[in-house]
Amino acid sequence: MDFSLSPELLDLQARVRRFVAEQVMPYEKDPRYGRHGPEESLRDELVARARDAGLLAPHASPEFGGLGLGHLSKAVVFEEAGYSSLGPTALNIHAPDEGNMHLLEVVATPRQKQRWLRPLVQGRLRSCFCMTEPPPGAGADPSMLATTAVRDGDDYVIDGLKWFITGAQGAGFAIIMARMEDGSATMFLSDMDRPGIEVERTMDAMDACFTGGHGVVRLRGLRVPAGDILGEPGQGFRYAQVRLAPARLTHCMRWLGQARRAHDEAVAHARERRAFGRPLGEHQGVGFMLADNEIDLTSARLHIWHTAWLLDQGQRGNFESSRAKVACSEAAWRVVDRCVQILGGQGVTGESVVSRIFTDMRAFRIYDGPSEVHRHSLGRKILAGRSDASLARG
Ligand SMILES: Cc1cc2nc3c(=O)[nH]c(=O)nc-3n(C[C@H](O)[C@H](O)[C@H](O)COP(=O)(O)OP(=O)(O)OC[C@H]3O[C@@H](n4cnc5c(N)ncnc54)[C@H](O)[C@@H]3O)c2cc1C
Repeated sequence: MDFSLSPELLDLQARVRRFVAEQVMPYEKDPRYGRHGPEESLRDELVARARDAGLLAPHASPEFGGLGLGHLSKAVVFEEAGYSSLGPTALNIHAPDEGNMHLLEVVATPRQKQRWLRPLVQGRLRSCFCMTEPPPGAGADPSMLATTAVRDGDDYVIDGLKWFITGAQGAGFAIIMARMEDGSATMFLSDMDRPGIEVERTMDAMDACFTGGHGVVRLRGLRVPAGDILGEPGQGFRYAQVRLAPARLTHCMRWLGQARRAHDEAVAHARERRAFGRPLGEHQGVGFMLADNEIDLTSARLHIWHTAWLLDQGQRGNFESSRAKVACSEAAWRVVDRCVQILGGQGVTGESVVSRIFTDMRAFRIYDGPSEVHRHSLGRKILAGRSDASLARG
């Protein structure tokens, strides 16, 4: 494996780092950064800055205005953007848009790409991804999908209820997963202003880093023309994997940036703050926590780079991206929890960005597959003979 970074990538990394420090972090205290994420006007302002800096949607293909970054390059750039909780919003690389862009690039028709992908990459509209449903519908187990799509002439009529739909409030369009009459699943594209699709409410979530928060979306007699099926009918579950394997890895990249930021804040505090006659960091208990952070951050980065490298080689990487998702979400969580501890009281208040990172990050162990579901799937594959742990034996 070759993890050497080209001079162009190192240059891009430095540009993103500078952009985030100089143009994004000053917005972190902006009053428009509220309970349900950055408001639209704040997002628009940040996106405009990234556009001016030539850093908008760097993962998208050049045909649509991006830089066409590969997975390893994304790992480097997304981590830098993630250093500020507003960085991914500015660069237009946040969930769910970034994963939706990837899915559209792979499976949408040329007409669908012009209509929905192009403005999405340009940051002129947002999107949402409607899969999860309240019980007894789809959750950790997507096969429990309850939303239905019934053919009626040239249209499909969709009925169901979705929740936890990130960015639904204010999105321009949705990708909707629904069950067909033959039991298979299909993805549909729909503008959000069509009759029959409505955001009933925004949920009172713990995190606050996504524009539009997380919505409850009612689908009542939503008519979608057959031409707005995304890809082929009946391929919904397969496309969900096309979207999720890279999307869960990009979550790891962005959250690694946030964990690194928390660690830097904790290191600064451990250097400056004194207790019992010396700087905090010189107490072994604190020094050990910093050392454990360093170990977790580096392990997380290696998981990401390894999986990204495999994806760049054209491998599917489902096993590795599941493994990386568990490793990174849990390592980043341990890092941020230790940082709260090192910061003392400030770590649980708005005096430090770390408390915001802490509350924003908790859900990462749940969405795009809870840790238990990834472990369950890894366990089954290991029983079937799959394991990198045996590589060392040759
Ligand atoms: C902040 C946030 C944003 C989200 N954004 C979106 C979005 O944009 N679009 C979308 O469609 N969905 C979204 N989701 C939904 C997310 O994907 C689901 O929450 C997740 O799949 C889990 O489903 P559930 O909440 O219904 O939990 P459940 O299915 O009720 O599972 C609850 C818990 O049961 C345990 N569990 C489940 N299966 C197993 C197993 N096999 N073995 C052991 N334990 C198990 C796990 O601990 C799991 O956390 C979001 C969720 C959150 C929290």
